[in-house]
Amino acid sequence: MTATLRSSGLAVTDLHVHYGERHAVRGVSFAVARGQTLAIVGESGCGKSSTALAVSRLLPVGATTEGSAVVGDLDISSATGDELRNARGRVVAYMPQDAMAALNPVQSAGRQIAEVLRLRRGVDRGQAAAGAVDLLEDVGINEPDAVARRYAHELSGGMRQRVMLAIALAARPQVLIADEPTTALDVTVQAGILALVRELVVADQMALVWITHDIGVVAEIADTVAIMYGGLIVEQGPVETIFEHPAHPYTQALVQSPRDSRHAPPKAAFNAIPGSPPLGDFPSGCPFHPRCPAALKVCPQTMAATVELEPGHVCACHLTSAPA
Ligand code: SF4
Repeated sequence: MTATLRSSGLAVTDLHVHYGERHAVRGVSFAVARGQTLAIVGESGCGKSSTALAVSRLLPVGATTEGSAVVGDLDISSATGDELRNARGRVVAYMPQDAMAALNPVQSAGRQIAEVLRLRRGVDRGQAAAGAVDLLEDVGINEPDAVARRYAHELSGGMRQRVMLAIALAARPQVLIADEPTTALDVTVQAGILALVRELVVADQMALVWITHDIGVVAEIADTVAIMYGGLIVEQGPVETIFEHPAHPYTQALVQSPRDSRHAPPKAAFNAIPGSPPLGDFPSGCPFHPRCPAALKVCPQTMAATVELEPGHVCACHLTSAPA
């Protein structure tokens, strides 16, 4: 990681997550500059949500981590309780998939946004209330005054996600971790939110990590992509490179499918790959070997080293790392 990136975005190095005996994330590294978006793509159980929660320091009690997640001068993974309280929302904000569960049911939308403005920006109640309405307008809500007075159950799914986005943006985070926030929304609402987030990332110079199992949204929102499988990043690079010449057999299968059916349901890309992703313990060697059409003799025994194929494009596969 460069010093510039460390001071201006998110740099994750050799991150591991364990749930007891289960090694769910097995040493992932990535970096996102401010004003840029990294999409982390993978099937259920691949470790992408554990990665998001670890970087946000929101893993459940009992989970343990190794490695680092650095924003500016702060290593989130080793921050003290006080440092973390101070950083939460302002340095790193987390946007969950289930807005209904995340919103407080007994506080209006406006009050929840205003609360963040008061705590994180130190403004008074009047300024916070006015700021909450402005933020609702910024995230594309019509009649923001009226919506600010409504409760979660009075809002549509798309509006709830926009309110969550307004809450996340209220503290002006340097890094926003969005964990499948549009999965439950219909295609039109999702497209609106993706366009809005893309604008805000550039306008607010955030570093955005967008977690998804939908390769279809990646081209619409991301600058770079990390493909996860079996707790590992198996390929990573600029979005054009990954779509135009994917090197890993898993990425190739993933990318080929949605090109023909960009508007197919998100799981279509994964369903096109024979077999199921590993849940629980990962297979030995390359975790993709039971499903890989190109598997070599060495694949069940040894994990391939990650090699850089061209600047910024890395892949972990014996087909690309083995000497010719
Ligand atoms: Fe397939 Fe082997 Fe490459 Fe894994 S390392 S993706 S099993 S060829």
